[in-house]
Amino acid sequence: MPDRLTRRRFLAAPAAAPVVFAADDRLALHGGRPVRSEPFPSWPKVAPADEEALLEVLRSGQWFRGTAGRWARRFEEAYAKLVGTKHCLATANGTSALFASLHALGVSPGDEVIVPPYTFVATVNVVLLHYALPVFVDTDPETFQIDARKIEAAITEHTRAIVPVHLGGNVADMDTILNVARKHKLAVVEDACQAHLAEWRGRKAGSLGEAGCFSFQVSKNLCAGEGGAIVTDRDDLIERCFTFHNNSRSRRTESMNFSYDAPGANLRMTQFQAALLVAQMARLEEQSRRREQNAEYLAGMLREIPGIQPARQYEGCTRNAFHLFMLRYDKEGFAGAPRDLFLKALRAEGIPCSGGYRPLNKEPFLLRALQSRGYKAIYSPERLARWQERNHCPANDRLCEEAVWFPQTMLLGERRDMEQIAEAIRKIQKRAGELRKS
Ligand SMILES: *Cc1c(COP(=O)(O)O)cnc(C)c1O
Repeated sequence: MPDRLTRRRFLAAPAAAPVVFAADDRLALHGGRPVRSEPFPSWPKVAPADEEALLEVLRSGQWFRGTAGRWARRFEEAYAKLVGTKHCLATANGTSALFASLHALGVSPGDEVIVPPYTFVATVNVVLLHYALPVFVDTDPETFQIDARKIEAAITEHTRAIVPVHLGGNVADMDTILNVARKHKLAVVEDACQAHLAEWRGRKAGSLGEAGCFSFQVSKNLCAGEGGAIVTDRDDLIERCFTFHNNSRSRRTESMNFSYDAPGANLRMTQFQAALLVAQMARLEEQSRRREQNAEYLAGMLREIPGIQPARQYEGCTRNAFHLFMLRYDKEGFAGAPRDLFLKALRAEGIPCSGGYRPLNKEPFLLRALQSRGYKAIYSPERLARWQERNHCPANDRLCEEAVWFPQTMLLGERRDMEQIAEAIRKIQKRAGELRKS
């Protein structure tokens, strides 16, 4: 164990836990009383305004966005204003927002797209759906974001775009990413699906690249069950996205009988989703502020616990959306008890938690996709072999073994809830020796 940890552990010890253990201070996993028995706040939240909005759409009969889609338009205007971009296009979900954006930027078979390995599978699926190659750049374990310093080394003559993900509502190092993109004339599509209201140097996540994509799936900080949005300042890009998402019909030709401009799909948002989002948006700022305050309070307590390291933010991240509260667990601080056992013990104490993503770059389905008939028709065996040789993300592999997540809904509670999270972790630490042997 490194010196620093020993000293920190020593310093943290006095404040770390109740002084005396009663019989019931055994770990809940071993039959003791859990630190917490009440549930954390439920999600999604429903307000009377949501019901009114949905009923209004229902009774209007205008369920489809079309030309008369006033709820979709209202949502798009409000969301563009919120993010600070010229345009917003509502989509069926976050995946289709990413898919349409890459299409509109011309990502094609043979191209390479730079992505992080620490993300939801959709970020990579949209690259595969275009028969392009996802090129993984390792993660910065301190922040859980793509390691922007390593992007330039991954660029080749085939690279077309960079898709940074603002993971957990924290923000990727956009200064470095935008500089590298400018230098190599690459498009940046921000996957801001977890980063509603997050900011980089005072500008909203999603407004910094060519396009930004959001998700309103039910787990997200702003939600309508399903839903998505593309934001951009570029007129040409939003028109191409519109046509693509509207089965080949542009805004110009939509009102004409069957007249088409380019290949497309149907990725439209319904008016029900849009109306619900407009109503939910009214509460986003307040909820975000509460998450921030609770996260800050929790991080302060957890930083005092040896072996627990909350995710850091880059200096340019001026607001974190805290879709997830992420931390790294070092088993050395817990008598060598493996992470998954720690998670089990924590859940038993009444604290929901997860170990987060597995390494996406190592998913077997990925290799199968690249060996499919379609990929083989486009890429030479040498190029596919080279892709495999380049595909190593050791920092991310390690992060996936150390990560612990608390979902955003836990941050919507009271300070007392945060204290119980810290208390449960301290309790487990005190009894880590017993835990390891169990
Ligand atoms: C949720 C999410 C998506 C996909 O959004 P859907 O609305 O579920 O399609 C994409 N990327 C990230 C990082 C996400 O968290």
